[in-house]
Amino acid sequence: MSDALALTGTLFDLDTFAVHDGPGIRMTVYLKGCPLRCAWCHSPESQRAAPELAYTADNCVYCGACAAACAQGVHSVSHGSHTLAREACLACGACVAACTHRALSLKGYTATAGEIIARADRMRPFFSASGGGITLTGGEVTLQPAFSQAVLAGCHQRGLHTAIETCGACSWAVLESLLPHTDLVLYDLKLIDDDAHRRWTGASNRQILANARRLGALAGGPAVQVRVPLIPGITDTDANLDAILALMSSAGLTDLALLPYNPSAAAKYDWLGRAYALEAEPQTPEQLAAWALRAAATGIHATID
Ligand code: SF4
Ligand code: SF4
Repeated sequence: MSDALALTGTLFDLDTFAVHDGPGIRMTVYLKGCPLRCAWCHSPESQRAAPELAYTADNCVYCGACAAACAQGVHSVSHGSHTLAREACLACGACVAACTHRALSLKGYTATAGEIIARADRMRPFFSASGGGITLTGGEVTLQPAFSQAVLAGCHQRGLHTAIETCGACSWAVLESLLPHTDLVLYDLKLIDDDAHRRWTGASNRQILANARRLGALAGGPAVQVRVPLIPGITDTDANLDAILALMSSAGLTDLALLPYNPSAAAKYDWLGRAYALEAEPQTPEQLAAWALRAAATGIHATID
């Protein structure tokens, strides 16, 4: 095996029949670790780089098998009560193996680039029939650049369509290193106002907006689709959407996907012992249609995903 194929990445999921992460049937690889902390993140298990323990209270019967299996003393179980000292957890998986009630799982595992490429290769008939391919997403693909580059290059060499989804919060050099092996960039934009971006994602958007402009200015680079998660009252305001359209127009980016609010994230936060601060209603079809028309008026093709 070549050095590149032996490179290891940390994943939290892999979906072999995804349909929302690029054209056709996709094998979507979810990488662990993200530099942002979006208040609405629907994959909180993606945020930390290292594997972590998830606990589903509804499945727990308080048998105490996990406490007996854990050398770190993470689990305290008594009648009807189960608390976790998560800060002591080493993510060894011993308690997961001991729990026969599927109340525990580890979010995060490693795989080599060669394993991912081989798996994508086995999907070739489905990709060929549907115009699909492999998509690396997260988490954040640019936080594991060597692994991502190895997977993308290996798939490209085998003639597979490749896509990445990125939040753009990385150096241009890192993002640029992935582009020769990428057919489609799904580029997430949330908020144009930097103060609002800091407040809702925990980081400035300056690098993100600069990278978006550089992507738009590339000659002969991959196709780029801007993706905007529509978070009620935060990213879906007229002012923010108009600012995104203005940035896209000035950068020469003409493909936009509007992602309606998905309120189903709260349960995942419970599993990880974290608080979910956002509760809101999805946008109406009328609102979505109006924003698509607004984009079309500026020469930008918008789809609702
Ligand atoms: S082993 Fe599973 S079911 Fe038993 S107490 Fe631990 S988490 Fe709950
Ligand atoms: S994963 Fe390992 S260290 Fe963490 S709670 Fe389970 S047994 Fe203990």
